[in-house]
Amino acid sequence: MIDLRSDTVTKPDEAMREAARTADVGDDVYGEDPTVSELEARAAEAVGKEAALFVPTGTMGNQIAAQVHTEPGQEVLVERASHVYKYELGGLARHSGLQVRTLDGGDRGVPTPEQVDAGVVEEDLHRPGTGLLCLENTHNARGGVAIEPDRIAAAAEAARGHDVPVHLDGARVFNAAVALDVPVTEITDHVDSVMFCLSKGLGAPIGSMLAGPEEFVDRARRTRKLFGGGMRQVGVVGAPGLRALENVDDLEADHERARRLADGLADVDGFDVRPPETNIVLVDVSGTGDDAEAVLERLRERDVLASAMGPTTVRFCTHRDVSGEDVDRALERVMAAMTGR
Ligand SMILES: *Cc1c(COP(=O)(O)O)cnc(C)c1O
Repeated sequence: MIDLRSDTVTKPDEAMREAARTADVGDDVYGEDPTVSELEARAAEAVGKEAALFVPTGTMGNQIAAQVHTEPGQEVLVERASHVYKYELGGLARHSGLQVRTLDGGDRGVPTPEQVDAGVVEEDLHRPGTGLLCLENTHNARGGVAIEPDRIAAAAEAARGHDVPVHLDGARVFNAAVALDVPVTEITDHVDSVMFCLSKGLGAPIGSMLAGPEEFVDRARRTRKLFGGGMRQVGVVGAPGLRALENVDDLEADHERARRLADGLADVDGFDVRPPETNIVLVDVSGTGDDAEAVLERLRERDVLASAMGPTTVRFCTHRDVSGEDVDRALERVMAAMTGR
């Protein structure tokens, strides 16, 4: 089976397993787990923030950030196809009593400053006010586009002009930095808080980091407890996370394999392939006469897994556990599946 559904399917390597086995641990609710404390310090430094908090999932990191930045009843500005809006079960409303206002970020998945200005609601007797702007980089549903720092800066500056803080869903922000060949801080410097995943392309089995100013992270720690996310000897999973932070440079190889995959997929009749910027390849399969689910079924019969991103869009995602040879083998199988050979 060649699994191209997501970069979350990577399994911890031997070094990560060994790190977990030998990790120095303590009760992190008492602040006594040295491994996760080191991970939090290193993660904060990596994205240029004062502090960071280990959270079990990216979703929890985003939801904690939204709650800490806002008051119930406020509006949150989100991109129309963003993860925090589409794929977190309405958590902004359910956990934090927030009302969402969507902006259309277009192909690059990022609102312009004009859109932010127009979307912000000033608080008055009738209106709740806007409490937060959420951005996403790379933008998953738009095909893993690596959003340039100046676009992030422009949207963030517009929000800040209205005293609205900015949270970045940076689940794959290191993919963006590597693809754009900039230090990740050129992206994260423009936002108040950032969440990034250790459990995706970086290869850790579990965990994400939420980073920001010290006071924000102190409050986030309380909110994590409220959400039931205060953990005990968490260094067991923090140790693989520390190893994962060393895998940033490997992401370029994932991107290279995505380009190779995209080039091959473009030869399939009826496939309209979006050239990838990072490790995600979106293919509009409507030209085949089949919908995404039907194409996925044909691929599954040939032991290739991908995922659906809309009715006629298939997503392929490269990661550390697929080699260049796996990509070539996947391409042969996709071709055979789609030509019925
Ligand atoms: C995966 C992902 C998340 C959430 O991470 P989980 O650990 O799966 O909860 C958030 N945002 C984006 C853009 C993602 O791709």
